[in-house]
Amino acid sequence: MRPTACSVHVRGLVQGVGFRPFVYRLASLHDLAGWVLNGAEGVEIRLEGRRDGMRRFLRELKTEAPAAAVISGVDVIRANACGLVGFVIRESESGGRPTTRVSPDLATCKACLAELFNPHDPRFAYPYINCTDCGPRFSIVHRLPYDRASTTMARWSMDAHCQSEYDNPSSRRFHAQPVACPECGPHYRLLYGDTQLHGDDAVITSAAALLREGKILAVKGIGGYHLACDARNEAAVHALRARKFRKEKPFALMVADVEVAHSLASLPPEGEALLVSVARPIVLAPAREELAGVAPDNTEFGLVMPYAPLHHLLFAAGAPNVLVMTSANRSSEPIVYDDEQAIERLSGIADAFLIGERPIARRVEDSVARIASSGPVILRRGRGYAPGPAAVLPTGVPILALGADLKNAITLVVDGQAFVSQHIGDLQDADSYRAFHETIEDLVSMYNVPREQLVIAHDLHPDYVSTRYATEFAGANARAIQHHRAHVASVLAERGLWDERVLGLAFDGTGYGDDGTIWGGEFFLGSLRGGFDRVAHLRPANLVGGDAAARFPVQAAAGFVGELSDAAELMAAPFSFPRHFLHATRLLQKGVRTFTTTSMGRLFDAAAALLGFTRPVTYEGQAAIWLEHLARRSAAVAPYDFPMEGHQLDYRPLIRAIIRDRSQGRDVKDIARAFQGGVARGTHDAASSLCHAHGVGTVVASGGVFQNALLVEDLRRLLEEGGLRLHINHAVPPNDGGISLGQAALVSFGH
Ligand code: ZN
Ligand code: FE
Repeated sequence: MRPTACSVHVRGLVQGVGFRPFVYRLASLHDLAGWVLNGAEGVEIRLEGRRDGMRRFLRELKTEAPAAAVISGVDVIRANACGLVGFVIRESESGGRPTTRVSPDLATCKACLAELFNPHDPRFAYPYINCTDCGPRFSIVHRLPYDRASTTMARWSMDAHCQSEYDNPSSRRFHAQPVACPECGPHYRLLYGDTQLHGDDAVITSAAALLREGKILAVKGIGGYHLACDARNEAAVHALRARKFRKEKPFALMVADVEVAHSLASLPPEGEALLVSVARPIVLAPAREELAGVAPDNTEFGLVMPYAPLHHLLFAAGAPNVLVMTSANRSSEPIVYDDEQAIERLSGIADAFLIGERPIARRVEDSVARIASSGPVILRRGRGYAPGPAAVLPTGVPILALGADLKNAITLVVDGQAFVSQHIGDLQDADSYRAFHETIEDLVSMYNVPREQLVIAHDLHPDYVSTRYATEFAGANARAIQHHRAHVASVLAERGLWDERVLGLAFDGTGYGDDGTIWGGEFFLGSLRGGFDRVAHLRPANLVGGDAAARFPVQAAAGFVGELSDAAELMAAPFSFPRHFLHATRLLQKGVRTFTTTSMGRLFDAAAALLGFTRPVTYEGQAAIWLEHLARRSAAVAPYDFPMEGHQLDYRPLIRAIIRDRSQGRDVKDIARAFQGGVARGTHDAASSLCHAHGVGTVVASGGVFQNALLVEDLRRLLEEGGLRLHINHAVPPNDGGISLGQAALVSFGH
């Protein structure tokens, strides 16, 4: 048969993930000649050989691609054979601006694990084993292009063995930048009181023993330090809570293997797939057993599988098979990633330090995700996902979108690719604000964007620190985007729906509205291209006391209860509100420090207070989460009324029903369920009539309130029964972590 030839262009996340060696092996397997190289916009391949081999090659190019690769398109162009012999990996073509994408960090692969536990392998039990399919990327790179000299591995030079693998195109470690072995690479040490232990083996064995004894360990991982302890040791878990000033927020659990995960939580097949995916997020799943102090008042556990070789080695060395594995910080501070800072800041918390020599270039927190009926939903975007692109936008102008002040993350749009940063945190915290600056510098310089060309998108809120940053940094190049429109836009942007007219729901705690009041229960009509008009909202309530309102559910209740009940009734059993409620009610009556809000988040807080959550919250969103989990314990009950009056959803029937049923002694979990069902039903009825009135078939829902999986599933069922579609966020969080993508999208369309 005559040889044929073709050129293949592969687009997507195909650089820095072992794609060229994979192509090399595939071409060799099918006896094809030619070459492969990293081009300016993806991977370029030239093939010559028999037609059937080429057909198999093109099929397997997609089906057998490295786990971390994301192929967004393959173009094949016929060419004339010119008698090429053999297959080679060519040097990269270098253009001006680096268009190579930085890969997210990847969990240790199966092949490396096999070596890790093979006593005859040169990297047996070596905590820094990695290959082109796995290992750190974003967390070790200082700048582009991604080669060893630009990473935190620069100070270790490869020995002959590592170098030979690095240079060999048929090796799994061909151009694996962080490649290392015990002879030439970094090691771990253990700091315990005054003693310092060296030697990976001894260090890991001792660390596992300390964990068994109930000690709290600071463990250096991929994107920062974690605090670890035996999750079944109640005393250890409580000590960790006390020392970390983290009263009730659930702790993530690292499980030794999938079997342990299944024994702790009910994981559907999609949940297991997410748990073992290369991104290795923390996956929320319904708990099957109680672990004291781990997740108070919560029906779910957050589970994560080992993702660094060190984690696998700790479990193999006898560490308890369920470990609390929580970001090393005090309450809301960002995760610690620097060794000296770790020792300084964590000395009052950790009993011992497991310190690795390989520096971390930047902090990257663990990601958090859950499975919805429409697929995985990311609640916190960090390790494994950042800084991957989350959307393609139609613009050649570089855009920097700053997000919101809470749950901050930023987005940089370069050449139409929207790169969303890792979770940064709450900018009110000084360290988080510093991290915000660092992350901006980091992304802008990594992609070599000329600063004077940057258009800056920011929130409409005049008092946000990110807004102040935008006006100082960009002046006339700053564009304000209303918070809730950004929420809705984030869903459409990640799906690439640029022109579809939708009904957008944005339900959250707070966001600055067009009229200067605090919004949070908003209905919009429009599209990314055309912009969004507010067409309906929650009936406004008067709240007292700015940001503090979010900390005290009874303070929210004071606003929503209003004239529906007298204060004395709620001070008595079964409500037993604290005096704080009376105080808030008096301020409201006098109109002191009050503001108007349409916040759906505060409505959930008010309902939670009426159901018994009368203390202050200890973390953001706690009362609403408490209410959702209470409702999950109930069977189906009839939903309360939540009618639309004009263009306002009237919460008063909901509140009245809760007060009535609770006074009559109805089970609180059934009341919670009837409330949840009522919110879903009322939202559906309002959405459906708006859709029909405006000829729209798609509803889009975003905002922190839609982290409530029960609400989303109730709403989806009702909408789909009525022939409407519901889209929610999957690539970026529905909470304010997704705001920057929505801002970038709206600015890219000229809004
Ligand atoms: Zn590997
Ligand atoms: Fe929000």
